[in-house]
Amino acid sequence: MEKIFLDILRPDDWHVHLREGEILSSVLPFTYENFRSALIMPNLDAPITNISLAENYYNEIRKQIPRGIEFTPNMTLYLTNDLSKNEIEKVSNHEYIKAIKMYPKGATTNSDLGISDFKDFHHLFEVMEESGVILSIHGEVTDEKVDVFERESVFIEEVLTKIIEQFPNLKIVLEHITSADTVKFVNEQSMVAATITIHHLMVNRNIMLSKGIRPDFYCAPILKTEYDRRALVQAAISGNGKFFLGTDSAPHVAGKKIASCGCAGIFSSPLAIPLLIQLFEEHSSLEKIELFMSRNGRAFYGLRQHKDRVRYVKRSKSIEVIKDIKTSEGKITVFNPNGEIYWEKEN
Ligand SMILES: [Zn+2]
Repeated sequence: MEKIFLDILRPDDWHVHLREGEILSSVLPFTYENFRSALIMPNLDAPITNISLAENYYNEIRKQIPRGIEFTPNMTLYLTNDLSKNEIEKVSNHEYIKAIKMYPKGATTNSDLGISDFKDFHHLFEVMEESGVILSIHGEVTDEKVDVFERESVFIEEVLTKIIEQFPNLKIVLEHITSADTVKFVNEQSMVAATITIHHLMVNRNIMLSKGIRPDFYCAPILKTEYDRRALVQAAISGNGKFFLGTDSAPHVAGKKIASCGCAGIFSSPLAIPLLIQLFEEHSSLEKIELFMSRNGRAFYGLRQHKDRVRYVKRSKSIEVIKDIKTSEGKITVFNPNGEIYWEKEN
């Protein structure tokens, strides 16, 4: 019989951009209402490069979460030359700072401080390896000579394999993976896990480019082929502990996104869970969704499993779907390639 209820542990989002100021206040409710915790990215206009900045940012987020809502913002530090061994040791015992984020210089929004030579950080990787601190990686090279569709695979070949070789016990999360080759690579490594976004699971580069350009599907790393999308879906629905949800929800207002040179980033927090449920349902894999959304990430990050549960209900007609949110700087489009949404959280 067709399933009309889904009872699961409340999901976690292992990669989200909440920004700051008014945008933070506008997008945050979609994260704390839908997720039990989220790993908050540090690439603000002034990036979060040390513990004290992360603690301030945490407090700013915390004070906007209404009483009675159970939500943990897990924080990250942006890897730069300013980070010391001592700070990393402190991170290893920190209550809510859970990873160090490495951006290649210029790979995405606010990554100008990112790193260009990975050898400069070997002394820090050593401490992370010893103390069990997770390295979270935006895995793309940014060399303009490398084709935009090849940047993840070249990064793996030229950078990541070297880091793994030298630091075999360093725990790594390769963020927002995009291709069949990367799924295979992650499967072969003992200490590497990966986040997968809802948009890389649902759309491909043809959908983005072939019948007119769809700026709302433009993201970094860029969407790949249908073959790659299918491999990502197989990884997600497999239940394999190496793969878990990180939405990479990244709000940009319309004026910056729909422009002659538009920003990369997809705002997916509001509908990510119902879209995922529909996707797993189409693949007859609903019994694996709790692993992908609620268990695998926590296990890899070594966090205790919480006991909060949530129930989703399938309606016979599409629910009324949110299309965008409005801010004083413009609207932000909500990712929803399906149009119709049948699953919703039971209140
Ligand atoms: Zn991101």
